[in-house]
Amino acid sequence: MNRQPSHEYRLGGFDMRIPKSFRLSTPWSLRAVAEPGLYHFAREADGATIRFHLRVDSGGGGLLVANGAAITRLSASGVLFAKALMERQTPEKIAKQAKRLFKGMSAERFTRDLDAVRTVIERMQSPRGDYPIFNLSDPAFSPKVAPLGRPISADVPLCAPFHAARIFDRLWEVGIPHVTIVVERDCNETHLLRAVQRASDLGLITGVRGRGTPLAVGNRIADMAAAGLDHLDVYCFSAVEDIHDALAGKGDCKQAARALSMAAKHEICAVAQLAIVRATLPSIGATLQRMSEHGIKNVAAFAVATTNAEEAAAGALLGHELPPAARLVEEYAERLGLRLIWNPAVRFDPTRPLSEQACRGPRCSGDTAIRVEADGTIFLPRGPWASAGNLIDDDWNAIERSDAYQLYRERVESDTHCDTCPGLAICAADCPREPAGWAEGWGGESDK
Ligand code: SF4
Repeated sequence: MNRQPSHEYRLGGFDMRIPKSFRLSTPWSLRAVAEPGLYHFAREADGATIRFHLRVDSGGGGLLVANGAAITRLSASGVLFAKALMERQTPEKIAKQAKRLFKGMSAERFTRDLDAVRTVIERMQSPRGDYPIFNLSDPAFSPKVAPLGRPISADVPLCAPFHAARIFDRLWEVGIPHVTIVVERDCNETHLLRAVQRASDLGLITGVRGRGTPLAVGNRIADMAAAGLDHLDVYCFSAVEDIHDALAGKGDCKQAARALSMAAKHEICAVAQLAIVRATLPSIGATLQRMSEHGIKNVAAFAVATTNAEEAAAGALLGHELPPAARLVEEYAERLGLRLIWNPAVRFDPTRPLSEQACRGPRCSGDTAIRVEADGTIFLPRGPWASAGNLIDDDWNAIERSDAYQLYRERVESDTHCDTCPGLAICAADCPREPAGWAEGWGGESDK
């Protein structure tokens, strides 16, 4: 896979060529043009409401996210223009600010760059119904191009409203615009609806991940839609009902199908969450085919991996089996036109049944995410279950300086890619064969 820096960004099925002045290397990139933080805007386009999140980083640059599906990185001048356009400021007012902040910017350059930002925003507005996927295989997030300064999203196990509110408020404060609430087993409906409502009211892109059984109950999905849910990730282990139910529980296959169709009915973006284990691999083609037939466009996958033959016999895949398994999944997804994101593999835990590990899912939704437990403790997508700090209590800079964060960063920023099995998206951030890159260890209980 080519990991050379590129300015051709493709995220959320969205292609754009970023003008030079948007790139992080502009001479203005260190000037803050707005108070650092997260800004939320809503715009109408073709009868639909498009939600934009503009993250302004302390260095002056930032990120613009549309509907949680298309994203572009912005330099300081790009931030200024994007924010001003979102606020519907007049070109005269924007020019005045640009002149004050970016001395020496010619009128011609100003007009050209402002037009370019306007065009990018218009293109980002086209509603795609896409899942907010940020994958390190995308050039914009290649560790070579953009060191992982701050995550884009957080996976938060469902917890009591007091804890959820503290976490969501803090995510917003530190500029993490997307949360996925993880329902690990049967859930407290009141907690779930209040969590979705709170996250959505704040302006966070809001997702829920879980099995069909706790999600498809009664009006739960309709109620979550009314509360502002953006995406629903449902475990879809196999098109073969017995294989799915052996992992997810009796009757869950039907409930998963119901959850996905309810999501579509209520215009929530539906995502199929796969677990790649020995039992699900033979039917993976049929599973993806079924997803495609049901109109699912977004698929997330994680593997349960091991280095131990006994654990492999219990259903986990050995490290060397992961690249061919990934190739199979990637080829089917490509053939069916499905959008696939790899979540970091999880190391098999011999003290827990495989079914429990499959239903617990990945630690994080990709390499631009963090996991935040109910007490605020932060865990990173890969490596041992070692805290990087506390979201509620610690300053973000201290979290980034923590040993766990530094180790993780070094791991994904170092080039582990090679030509042994070329062309695999799964190894964009780390080699799947390598156990040090698997998420290892089990966290605490949720929904307390
Ligand atoms: S990093 Fe190399 S060995 Fe590992 S999966 Fe990718 S291409 Fe294969």
